[in-house]
Amino acid sequence: MSVPDIKFIDLVAQYRMIQHEIESAIHEALERGDFIQGYDVHELEKELGIFCEIEHVVGVANGTDALFLAMKALGIGAGDAIVCPSFTFAATAEAIVLAGATPIFIDVNDFDYNIDVALLTDCLASAQKSGLALRGVIAVDLFGHPARYTELEDFCCTNKLHLICDAAQSLGSTYNGKKIGQLGDVTCTSFFPSKPLGCYGDGGAILTRDAGLADLVRSLACHGRGGHKYENVRIGINSRLDTIQAAVLREKLKIFPGELKSRCDIAARYTSCLTTKIDVPEQKPSTLASWAQYTVKLRGKCRRNFISEMMRRGVPTAVYYPKPLHRQEAYQSFPIVNGSLPVTDHLCNEVVSLPMHPYMSEEIQDYIIRCVAEVIDAI
Ligand SMILES: *Cc1c(COP(=O)(O)O)cnc(C)c1O
Repeated sequence: MSVPDIKFIDLVAQYRMIQHEIESAIHEALERGDFIQGYDVHELEKELGIFCEIEHVVGVANGTDALFLAMKALGIGAGDAIVCPSFTFAATAEAIVLAGATPIFIDVNDFDYNIDVALLTDCLASAQKSGLALRGVIAVDLFGHPARYTELEDFCCTNKLHLICDAAQSLGSTYNGKKIGQLGDVTCTSFFPSKPLGCYGDGGAILTRDAGLADLVRSLACHGRGGHKYENVRIGINSRLDTIQAAVLREKLKIFPGELKSRCDIAARYTSCLTTKIDVPEQKPSTLASWAQYTVKLRGKCRRNFISEMMRRGVPTAVYYPKPLHRQEAYQSFPIVNGSLPVTDHLCNEVVSLPMHPYMSEEIQDYIIRCVAEVIDAI
């Protein structure tokens, strides 16, 4: 059996598409020599604001810093609690701890893997029991699927809580006609290379309609500077988006709408062909996902066997995430809403993600679909 070369995410195929544009954009930045807070950073912030239809965008060094800086700017710190899922990348909870606050882990839905909004009211008791002041919620749009923002915004508004969107995986998604970036108080995103909109290193941004908040993040990301570079009005950090990364991102933003369309088409093809074999992700008509990952469940079939049989056929897969945060050594002491997270625990043992990137040919898609069907029947 000849095994094809299939990439889980193919960044080189994207580079080949726009190689000339990327190289001349980097060349122009090199010629300008404005490596810190240069022309391309300002242009990208404007262009991303237009793309997401949001007033203020601040480029920062990475997505983790974006979350940390957003919380600092909202005045979140010691004695405060922030609710977040345990079924996420560590950075979500890490940023809460770095800000001085305490994460309270909440369970997720079995169908979209995002915060189970039915549990939100129980967070109030959890915070009280821990002697903490509940200040906000970080909603993660896992795998590019927007969280349930209607219910999240209602709950946060009623209880005077901040709603922070961890959109590291969901930039480009739409929720009830609103682009991600417009929801909650502030949206934080990442340009890590494998995210839907990625650069060639680390990068991130915060998006908000609140001018004061954007200014605060700008100051905090640049050593707490005041009106003048050598005037420090608060304690900050160094977290700026590189000019060269911004130059790369400006070129990638131009092809991003087409890439999103391609991801949606691939997801639709996967879904229509695999729905009888495995549990496919839910596609709500009112939302448009960025499909950072295409994640499925195997209806009780052995995941380990599935992964190795797929690999034998040349199809790479990945497990996001094999261990929930509340079971990680560094996070196991933090409070848990209602004491246990059964859906999260279950998902960590069940989920597996199939290759997903905008440059996958139809032949490869069909080959992957054939392999899934064959392997599921065989194991
Ligand atoms: C990638 C990611 C982050 C962190 O982004 P970095 O740019 O790698 O710091 C935060 N949250 C989620 C859900 C992520 O997937």
